[in-house]
Amino acid sequence: MAEVLFKVIIIGDPTVGKTSFVQRYVNNSYRKDYKMTIGVDFALKVIKWSDNRNIKLQLWDIAGQERFTSMTRVYYKDAHACIIMFDLTQRSTFQSAIKWKKDLDTKCSLLDGSAVPCLLLANKADLTHREVEQQEIEDMCKEHDFLGWTETSVREGLMIEESMR
Ligand code: GDP
Ligand code: MG
Repeated sequence: MAEVLFKVIIIGDPTVGKTSFVQRYVNNSYRKDYKMTIGVDFALKVIKWSDNRNIKLQLWDIAGQERFTSMTRVYYKDAHACIIMFDLTQRSTFQSAIKWKKDLDTKCSLLDGSAVPCLLLANKADLTHREVEQQEIEDMCKEHDFLGWTETSVREGLMIEESMR
């Protein structure tokens, strides 16, 4: 059985839903109360990709407070892929997503020198009060070289598996 390990980092401002996303994806669980991440949490998910291939995802859930400190360089090191998350109901977290992308790209790249593939997730799509338009996300995604973006609702379990796939 062939097995490959990928390091995937999940970044974005505090309270956008990063830890909830990882818990939902790995344990299919969700909690309403907020438990602040300190430093970094790790989770491992093994995916049966085909009959003879497993993929191990090592998920690094980083505390948002660490933004733009020298610590992020350590977290980013050797990442194969990245998820940047923001909260649709908090515009400031959308603006921060651009800063997170720049922070990542200035501190980290793949072995061949290319940028770390990065997915943009617009979380809390279950809430009706929105501060960011779809067109803006689309434009921002193109301008800043994300692989793509999708809305998610970790609470409702919407687009969790699909986005990780
Ligand atoms: P983190 O700081 O980015 O790790 O954010 P958390 O995962 O700790 O989530 C912060 C808060 O947002 C918690 O109270 C979660 O229950 C809540 N939350 C996370 N995802 C969603 C979602 O999709 N919809 C709603 N309504 N709340 C969410
Ligand atoms: Mg957290």
